[in-house]
Amino acid sequence: MKSQNKIYVVGIGPGNREHMSVRAIEAIAEADVIIGYKTYIDLIKDLIVDKEVIDSGMRKEVERCNLTLDYALQGKNVAIISSGDAGVYGMAGIMLEVKYERNSDVEIEVVPGITAASAASAVLGAPMMHDFAVISLSDLLTEWELIKKRLDCAAMGDFIVALYNPKSMGRVHQIEEAREIMMKYKAGSTPVGIVKNAKRQGEQAVITDLEHMLEHDIDMLTVVVIGNAHTYVKDGKMITPRGYQI
Ligand code: SAH
Repeated sequence: MKSQNKIYVVGIGPGNREHMSVRAIEAIAEADVIIGYKTYIDLIKDLIVDKEVIDSGMRKEVERCNLTLDYALQGKNVAIISSGDAGVYGMAGIMLEVKYERNSDVEIEVVPGITAASAASAVLGAPMMHDFAVISLSDLLTEWELIKKRLDCAAMGDFIVALYNPKSMGRVHQIEEAREIMMKYKAGSTPVGIVKNAKRQGEQAVITDLEHMLEHDIDMLTVVVIGNAHTYVKDGKMITPRGYQI
């Protein structure tokens, strides 16, 4: 039986349908109303033909969550859409915060998805086989000083580092500073994978190194994966050994 009055926060994965989970497809099917950022709504167009669809612009996250809750309180099932994983720089956190801020007891199910770092790693080979850190370079909601500190700690700890939101039209110096921080601890020859549109239309990948990474196109549709001290490149694949004796 169809449940009523429920909110699904759905991670739809990187874009290609085969990388979307069965639960994500079910959640969308059960929803009466679909809410999300237009680019993501376009990726699931064929699944939502009979739904009420509300697409919004970027940076309207709180508004989107309030609207989601309003619809749920009217007795509708609502799916609010994130790309990748809903819990990785996605809508899951803000949706829960809005629910508790408004003292609502509506049920929320968070549906996980394949996050950009996993999708990009699969494209590159196996770069994240050991401890890794995911760091967003967006300083819209986080102070740049704190982001720099995290970059420094991750590089000092020889973590593999996946950079989200690496560069936008108006935000170009962060990736340069991030690279400089990496170079304090990591060799210039450390492999770097740059993947744009991983596992969706328009996929492009290059493997370079820390020394040369800024010579390649990096934008907001890109994730950058920086290896650890053991990462190497073989036959166009980026590989970080787990440590097995072969
Ligand atoms: N919730 C999303 C991340 C949102 S933050 C997830 O789990 O993947 C947005 C950033 O994610 C982008 O700036 C980009 O760095 C990265 N990103 C999302 N999808 C991507 C894809 N298919 N290929 C490469 N990078 C992607």
